[in-house]
Amino acid sequence: MITAIAGGVGGSRMLRALTGVVPPERVTAVVNTGDDVVLHGLHVSPDLDTVVYTLGGAANPETGWGRAGETWEAMGELRALSAGRLAWFNLGDRDLGTHLYRTSRLGEGAGLSEVTAEIARRWGVTTRVLPMSDDRVETRVGLAGGREVGFQEYFVGLRHEVEVEQVRFDGVEAARPAPGVLEAIAGADLVVVCPSNPVVSVAPVLAVPGVGDAVADRRERVVAVSPIVAGAALRGPADRLLTELGNEASAVGVARLWAPFAGTLVVDVADAGLAAEVEAAGMRCVVAPSIMSGPAESAALARVVLATAS
Ligand code: GDP
Ligand code: CA
Repeated sequence: MITAIAGGVGGSRMLRALTGVVPPERVTAVVNTGDDVVLHGLHVSPDLDTVVYTLGGAANPETGWGRAGETWEAMGELRALSAGRLAWFNLGDRDLGTHLYRTSRLGEGAGLSEVTAEIARRWGVTTRVLPMSDDRVETRVGLAGGREVGFQEYFVGLRHEVEVEQVRFDGVEAARPAPGVLEAIAGADLVVVCPSNPVVSVAPVLAVPGVGDAVADRRERVVAVSPIVAGAALRGPADRLLTELGNEASAVGVARLWAPFAGTLVVDVADAGLAAEVEAAGMRCVVAPSIMSGPAESAALARVVLATAS
């Protein structure tokens, strides 16, 4: 049994890789919900949707998020009506169906984990996909100059082109792990920390009371894959966020952050020269090609990750 801690694109790539080499029903994904946002009254869970769409074969292969074959009629109307003001966050027509369903079910009193299972079933996803919590946790980004914005305003609205001074997870102290999360971590043969953004994808999951300790308790069975390759994120702001918050944007910086709860770090071959420093930070270091550019590369990385358990 494998339990993976995941954000959106890096998380879903790793999950697709793992479920290609082990039976998907043996894998549980614990997914970040700090990015969740209510837009136009709809509850949007970007990382959960990226994971489910990817595992269900429904994701847009170009972007890695959103739906394949998407159309944008509703957005076009919204843009025209609001002179663009309300159309800063793109929601495709097909994707909107998911958000309408999630919002309706939550309104009926269902928990986010229950609704996520229903959406996963629609895509034939047999991997168990769990939100980190059914309770509201909201990643808030403190910008240089003092203004604080929601994660999506930072990431999409401001295209993460602004300097960040602080990140906090509003509501996390009162959040409870979603049903099954702690058991999935305690009972796993291997816990995988996916190559997801350390600051805004992995950190919120571990900040849910009980989850960080549950992972740390399994430290010798926890393997992480560095999302930073040759000093940079493959995409997105992970490298800048690390630097802005006082960490090193490198596999070594990731090792220093993750050593308290993960025993092994897989770093890319481009970072082979950092292996000694990763070990000095307190993690066993495994060097392997880590860029999941296609099915063969992904499967090879999944096998490297699995081999750390034996
Ligand atoms: P988001 O929620 O969509 O922003 O995605 P995540 O937090 O899951 O992942 C973003 C991080 O994944 C970025 O820092 C990327 O560098 C990293 N990433 C994406 N694909 C890969 C990959 O194939 N290999 C590795 N090592 N990192 C990846
Ligand atoms: Ca995300």
